[in-house]
Amino acid sequence: MGLIVQKYGGSSVADAEGLKRVAARIVATKKAGNQVVVVVSAMGDTTDELIDLANQVTPLPNGRELDMLLTAGERISMALLAMAISNLGHEARSFTGSQAGVLTTSAHGKARIIDVKPSRISEAISEGAIAIVAGFQGINQDTKDVTTLGRGGSDTTAVALAAALEADVCEIYTDVDGVYSADPRVVPSAQKLKTVTYEEMLELAASGAKVLHLRCVEYARRYDLPIHVRSSFSNQEGTWVVKDHPEGDSDMEQAIIAGIAHDKSEAKVTIVGVPDRTGVAARIFQTIADADINIDMIVQNVSAAATGLTDISFTLPKSDGAETTAILNRIQGEVGFASLQYDDQIGKLSLVGAGMRSHPGVTATFFACLSEAGINIEMISTSEIRISIICRVEDLEKGVKAAHSAFDLDAEGEAVVYAGSGR
Ligand code: ASP
Ligand code: MG
Repeated sequence: MGLIVQKYGGSSVADAEGLKRVAARIVATKKAGNQVVVVVSAMGDTTDELIDLANQVTPLPNGRELDMLLTAGERISMALLAMAISNLGHEARSFTGSQAGVLTTSAHGKARIIDVKPSRISEAISEGAIAIVAGFQGINQDTKDVTTLGRGGSDTTAVALAAALEADVCEIYTDVDGVYSADPRVVPSAQKLKTVTYEEMLELAASGAKVLHLRCVEYARRYDLPIHVRSSFSNQEGTWVVKDHPEGDSDMEQAIIAGIAHDKSEAKVTIVGVPDRTGVAARIFQTIADADINIDMIVQNVSAAATGLTDISFTLPKSDGAETTAILNRIQGEVGFASLQYDDQIGKLSLVGAGMRSHPGVTATFFACLSEAGINIEMISTSEIRISIICRVEDLEKGVKAAHSAFDLDAEGEAVVYAGSGR
C-alpha cells in the first residue's frame, strides 16, 4: 500500500484497445490498495502528426501556438483514459498540466519545471479518486501561457509529480520491458538491465537513449526517487533506476559497459578560419547560449602557427541548426572567421558504464571494433563513465551492433518490442 505514480507512453495508449488495457492495469493497482496518480502521453504518433500538420501551414510555427496545439494531444488521451477507468467502476479525474500545478519557465517547446503545486491532485486522491495528468505540459505564471517540456517530456512530468507528492515509486510504462544494453530495435540481442544507476542513466539519456527523458532522470537523482521502467504489455519486472547497483549483483560487478546509446538528432557546425585569440571562443559560445541553445561536443584544432587561424566544430540538436547558423552569420564580421559549414548527416555513438572507471582498454577495444567495421571517427568526447564518437549517420547502426558484440553484451534470446515505431 502506497502512493504510486505511473506514466504511460504514447504507444501504450495508441488506440481504444490500448486505453482500455491501461485502464485495467491502473484499476488493478488501485484495487491492491494504492493511491494512484497517472501521467499520460498523447496517443500513438499524435505529437508527430500535429507537428507535421503545423509545418504544412507554415514553415516556422510560432512557439506559443505550437505548444497550444501539441498540448491538445495529451488532453485527448487523459480524458479518454479517465472515461475508460470510470467504465470499470472507479472514479477518475483528468487534469491538464496547468490544473495539476506544473509551473514552468516560459521557453516554449523546451520549458523547464520550476515548481509543482499539486493540491488538486492530492485532493483527488485523498477523496479516493484516481488522478490522470496530461504529461509534457505546464504553465508559466508570468505569461499565463501553456508550455511544453520538449519531446518525451511526460517522463519528467511523472517524476516531478512523484517527487512533489512524495510517492513511493514512479513507474514508467513503455513499449519494451525495461532499459536495454542497446536499442532493441537496432540490436535484437540487446539484454534487459536489472538495475542502472542514475549516473549511468543520465549519460545514456543524454547520449540519445530514448527510453527515459534526460530531465526526468536528473529529477529522480535530485530527490533520490526510484524509477521502475517496465512494459504496459507484459507483467515482467522491468529495470530499476536507482542510486547504486545492489551489492552482490555479480552480473553488474562484471559489466564494464551498462549500455550503448545512439543519436541521429544532432548536426555538426564547423566555424572555419577563426582567429586564434583569447576571448573569441567565449564570444561565439556566449552568443549561442544567449539564444538558449544547448551545444554538445566541441572540438578545436591547434592552429597552424603560420596562419594564426583555427577551426572550431561543435554538435547541437538539428532542430536548433537553422537558428545557430543565422546567429553565427550575424557575428561573422565582428569575430572575423572565414566561413561556416553545416552537416546534418552525422550520428553519435556512446558507450556508458560506471565500470569504465576501473577498466583500462575500453577505448582501445571500442576503436578497434569500429575500425574493423570500416567506420571513420570524426569527433571524440569522453566523461569518466562515457566515450562518445561522431561518425557518418549511415554507419551508426552498424557501429552500435559492432560495439555491442565487441563488449560481449549480446543476450541469448531476442528482446521483445511490443509496439511503437520508435519514431
Ligand atoms: N507526446 C509528447 C511526445 O511525443 C510527450 C511524450 O510522449 O512524453 O514527445
Ligand atoms: Mg510520445
